[in-house]
Amino acid sequence: MGGLKSLNLVDLHTHSTASDGTLTPSQLVTAACEQGLKAIALTDHDTVAGVAEALAKGEELGIEVIPGVEISVDHPGGELHLLGYFLDLTCPQLQETLAKLQAYREQRNPQMIAKLQAHNFDITMDEVTAVAGGTVIGRPHMAAVMVAKGYVSNTAEAFEKYLASGRPAYVKKQRLSPEEGINLVLAAKGIPVLAHPKYLPEQSVPELDALIAKLKNLGLRGLEVVYTTHDSAEQHTYRQLAKKYNLIVTGGTDFHGANKPDIKLGIGMGALRVPYAVVDKMKEALIKRD
Ligand code: AMP
Ligand code: ZN
Ligand code: FE
Ligand code: FE
Repeated sequence: MGGLKSLNLVDLHTHSTASDGTLTPSQLVTAACEQGLKAIALTDHDTVAGVAEALAKGEELGIEVIPGVEISVDHPGGELHLLGYFLDLTCPQLQETLAKLQAYREQRNPQMIAKLQAHNFDITMDEVTAVAGGTVIGRPHMAAVMVAKGYVSNTAEAFEKYLASGRPAYVKKQRLSPEEGINLVLAAKGIPVLAHPKYLPEQSVPELDALIAKLKNLGLRGLEVVYTTHDSAEQHTYRQLAKKYNLIVTGGTDFHGANKPDIKLGIGMGALRVPYAVVDKMKEALIKRD
């Protein structure tokens, strides 16, 4: 990794035990430091509960930690993921809204467990909570219990057969609208970014263009062009769209530790590189707005 150190690389999409990653925020920041990354953003699903710990570890080790979040918002045909960067954690609206999202989860999760039990799986909410460890408990943790008990051979199978939308144990969770999600990040003085466009139901360039135009009007500031599973043709398409709509090109791995063992911190499958210049661009955008 020594060779990478001089490149001033960053990873702007990572998960810790505060959501569905396997490293604690401290372990994550330590790993980023060992890899020689210059900055890391913690972007747990629907929570900033791990950020304070990550910031403290960053101070201690001398690596820049950017307070972030990844919010799943409503979208026809599924959901879309918004990343928020440089959040002001003291914003009351941020804390209140994330607490509300947490409450939606607490409604939905026991309903899904009941459905799994009706399918004769011996699985309890307590077991799922124990596996989750952190504050945000969701389908990946249900999948983990199902794998551990031998009901399915892996997470993908758990989703395909039971947990995904349209499958027998699925219960829809209430979500923010894209507008509410973007407004929340803006209220917390952060930068809203559309995550991994590859996973949107919109696939053609005209469809993507129309969606991004709409989100830009709502206040979107960036597009996650560089991402572990985006190939070079996809990155090219997304880069063009970012340019057209004057969006900051961002990037990250979506590191989840042992929950997604193929994805390595900072480098994804090996070739991903996100330069520190992205962080400079975001900071410029923050200054211009003030
Ligand atoms: P939840 O927030 O509880 O609805 O769970 C959503 C999370 O489950 C996503 O953020 C993904 O990490 C994971 N996920 C969603 N669909 C799949 C899938 N088909 N296979 C594996 N993981 C998935
Ligand atoms: Zn995740
Ligand atoms: Fe995501
Ligand atoms: Fe993610």
